[in-house]
Amino acid sequence: MAMRGWLYARLSNDDDPAQNSLQNQQEICRAFAEKSGWTIVGSSADNNISGMNFSRRGLDMLTAAVQAKQVDAVLVKDLSRLGRHRTQTALFIDFLRQQQVRVISATEGVDTFCEEDDLMIGVRGLMNDYYAKDIGKKIRAGYRQKQQEGLVITPPFGYWKDRNTNQVLVYPEAAETVQLIYALYLQGCGQKEITRWLNTEGRKTPAQLRAEWCGKEVRHTHKTRDGQFLWTYASVKNVLAEEAYTGVLVNHRREYLGGKARAVCEADWLRHENFYPVIIEKAIWQQVQTRLKQQARPAVNNRTKHRYAGLLTCQECGNVFSPMIRYWNGSRRVEYVCRGYQRNGKGYCSSHRIHEEVLDKAVWDHAKKLREQYAAELKKVTQLQKQWALRKPVLDAHCLTLQKEILRLEQEVDELVMEKIQI
Ligand SMILES: [Zn+2]
Repeated sequence: MAMRGWLYARLSNDDDPAQNSLQNQQEICRAFAEKSGWTIVGSSADNNISGMNFSRRGLDMLTAAVQAKQVDAVLVKDLSRLGRHRTQTALFIDFLRQQQVRVISATEGVDTFCEEDDLMIGVRGLMNDYYAKDIGKKIRAGYRQKQQEGLVITPPFGYWKDRNTNQVLVYPEAAETVQLIYALYLQGCGQKEITRWLNTEGRKTPAQLRAEWCGKEVRHTHKTRDGQFLWTYASVKNVLAEEAYTGVLVNHRREYLGGKARAVCEADWLRHENFYPVIIEKAIWQQVQTRLKQQARPAVNNRTKHRYAGLLTCQECGNVFSPMIRYWNGSRRVEYVCRGYQRNGKGYCSSHRIHEEVLDKAVWDHAKKLREQYAAELKKVTQLQKQWALRKPVLDAHCLTLQKEILRLEQEVDELVMEKIQI
């Protein structure tokens, strides 16, 4: 019976697509199978996923076929197709071996049923392992180097990047909007007021410019109404907080390790002075930051956890209370405000609010009361214990006499029974 072969191909992130395309891999395997006189019972492939991850559809199909005993051999272009992680590749090969299925590598001439090839697989696996880690390291190092020189992927609103020269330039119309926002804010306008003004004036929004730039249609989102882009509280806030307008570029604010983003502490940020053309003078920007800090603002997304967040409910309207940070007389206070009022205003609910210190005191007082209660209970219990402890010897002695009495009576019963029997 001819060998029943399954072709498996995989395209990984770091493959040269011209050399290692799925089609290319499959052709090589197919040619090998034909030359060896095999029957091809199936094939599957996984596209463009790094070999560090091992759960994939193509492999699952192969596994299913193996478990259904439809396959004698798996054909791959090279062993690294089965995964770049050495242990997992080895485990998979082991699983196949247990199922009486061999793996044949068409270009390396490896057959997992051939004992001498075991060593080869080990060495190759080791190299693949190293390779996967190495690539990651190289990419990270390259990115880090770019960041050290100053890396801009998409410049903030007010600038544009010339893709040919990689130069960041001022976009006059947007820069004017930025300057207007700063001026209005320092004149005493709030962010909501500025937002409304920008919308009545029809100033172009960041999303709008981006869409125009890419020639995209206006889609219906929270940033648009009736096909028009809208400024939002958040977009105004972003402009007011953006340090780039003073010329500073900040890179390396977050780090990616094992696919997870982590905030980098401010001391390790990579700052590049005079990187952008200046739109807002440093002194003005500083003034705005000071004012922003003084504002009461929602404390959500803040790194500090608020101890009563989500625990308070408004008696009047049933909404939760949201934490807000308020700076008052130079000190920082946290207060919880009815979200019904905060979102929908006076018509909906009253401005119920409570300071965190008040809550702290209430919790503390309650805890204190409980503690006193329990202390009193404990005292009572200890007293009872003592009373009984004093009586213990007397009671023990009494127990002993009673036990003796029991024994005596039992003997008496026995004797009476014996007498009866003898009669
Ligand atoms: Zn309420």
